[in-house]
Amino acid sequence: MEIKVLRNILSANDQIASDNRKLLDSKKVFAVNIMSSPGAGKTTVILETVRRFRGRAKTGVIEGDVASSIDAEKIGKEKVPVVQINTGGACHLDAAMVSKALSNLPLDEIKLLFIENVGNLICPGEFYLGEHKKVVLLSTPEGDDKPYKYPLLFKIADGILVTKTDLLPHLNFKIDNLVKAVRSINQKAEIIPLSAMTGEGMENWISWLTNGIR
Ligand code: MG
Ligand code: ZN
Repeated sequence: MEIKVLRNILSANDQIASDNRKLLDSKKVFAVNIMSSPGAGKTTVILETVRRFRGRAKTGVIEGDVASSIDAEKIGKEKVPVVQINTGGACHLDAAMVSKALSNLPLDEIKLLFIENVGNLICPGEFYLGEHKKVVLLSTPEGDDKPYKYPLLFKIADGILVTKTDLLPHLNFKIDNLVKAVRSINQKAEIIPLSAMTGEGMENWISWLTNGIR
């Protein structure tokens, strides 16, 4: 009986997530769930990406944070639709929060939607939101061993962005070590090293995203 109750709780999130997915599909919106620890560069990468899609595809952003609207204000300056979710303490987004945000976005216009999850390398991986792709950022200062320590996120990722590659000369981070760590648990994820500061690698990320836009 206990197990049955737990299953019902889990499926409640999945049910809403699958409704989100149906809505996104009906509006032909390609949605990407962006996950990482705090400070890996999610908002900065989203900002640079939104700028690069200007005039090519309409973008939109859902910003998830425990508190504040700092990130949504940054995105809003780019004149793209943005909704801030404050989780009020919860360390991840769930499908119900995203459902509410979707109802506040012009989905008829948006082709590419970024869902910036709460900065946390652990439990965001446990909540399906209705997204088409899961992307995990790992910044070079965090170390190339993180896939061994936080396997879930790296295991379920469709794309892994190694951010802040401009710092590589100052760090012990080795891209080869990171690739080896990822491949020990995930054979399929596209691994894209990039620097939003210098622009290095950004075109690989842009073309990966472009493949998903309908
Ligand atoms: Mg952010
Ligand atoms: Zn959480």
